[in-house]
Amino acid sequence: MLIVMKPGVSEVEIQKVVSLLETKGFDAHVSKGEINTVIGAVGGKVIDKRGIELLESVQEVIKITSSYKLASRAFQREDTIIKIGNAQFGGTEIAIIAGPCAVESLEQLEIIAEKLSKCGVKFLRGGAFKPRTSPYAFQGLGEEGLKYLRHVADKYNMYVVSEIMEISQISMMLKYVDVFQVGARNMQNFNLLKELGYVNKPVLLKRGLSATIDELLMSAEYIMSGGNRDVILCERGIRTFETATRNTLDISAIPVIKKLSHLPIIVDPSHGTGLRDKVAPMSRAAIAAGSDGITVEVHGCPDEALCDGAQSLYPNQFEILFNELKCIAPILGRSL
Ligand code: PEP
Ligand code: MN
Repeated sequence: MLIVMKPGVSEVEIQKVVSLLETKGFDAHVSKGEINTVIGAVGGKVIDKRGIELLESVQEVIKITSSYKLASRAFQREDTIIKIGNAQFGGTEIAIIAGPCAVESLEQLEIIAEKLSKCGVKFLRGGAFKPRTSPYAFQGLGEEGLKYLRHVADKYNMYVVSEIMEISQISMMLKYVDVFQVGARNMQNFNLLKELGYVNKPVLLKRGLSATIDELLMSAEYIMSGGNRDVILCERGIRTFETATRNTLDISAIPVIKKLSHLPIIVDPSHGTGLRDKVAPMSRAAIAAGSDGITVEVHGCPDEALCDGAQSLYPNQFEILFNELKCIAPILGRSL
């Protein structure tokens, strides 16, 4: 942290700030410029910089290190590779998660999983607990839906990714899922994140609707600080003033996060755009920009889907996309 003092402050005022910093455990290094004096504060506890900014003699406080540690590239230089059976997130192989928005029936899952696994998809997605804007909309099949997911995934040698909404669901869900998904709306459900820090299954953490990248990484830190280091980040679009798409997919978040963190990051072009005709172009863009994978909604009959039909691909559209990504991957030294 750098504390820039106001021009012309006295030595007494400088020393007051230095002693304050020292009482908070920082080493303070004073450097006097022609106009401003700058105090460099190193070490110390996590403090609210506004407490120092409010001091009469202080002009500005600049934070130079991130508040997240375990999630930071400074803590671990090499990319984290999360292995799940014969699949991985963060290595050279690109991970594809596909399936319907919500689990609707066993038959629906059977139809789609058969097609997806034939393509080579390893992760089957489907929400059994759905965070819907309206309390009157379909809320998901609950544990029944998870049973269908597990059954169908086992039949086609796939892994299950499904959303968890609250702490009380953890022990029950452990029986069915391979990856816990934390949805955008729960990205800052800190109690849930803390509990997921104690489980031994990877967590797919989706970026909140209006969350900054810093906040996303702080949420990852919550999970990691409990001991679970297997966090997969997911860019799924953020709220902006633009209304042409459901959200604005922040493709630039991929290289930004790659620089800041060693954690794998994937992209959700379905919720990111809300429209199926935008899903393939944004998936291609995501992989080209360095994403470690995508999670995409695919439905056997999108027109009859109980949830997010408009952004769900038809199976044949998905197959074309999958083959396109297969062509893009090797150009980037990756495989699919
Ligand atoms: C989902 O993936 O099913 C979902 C609800 O996504 P998000 O939390 O990103 O809205
Ligand atoms: Mn959805």
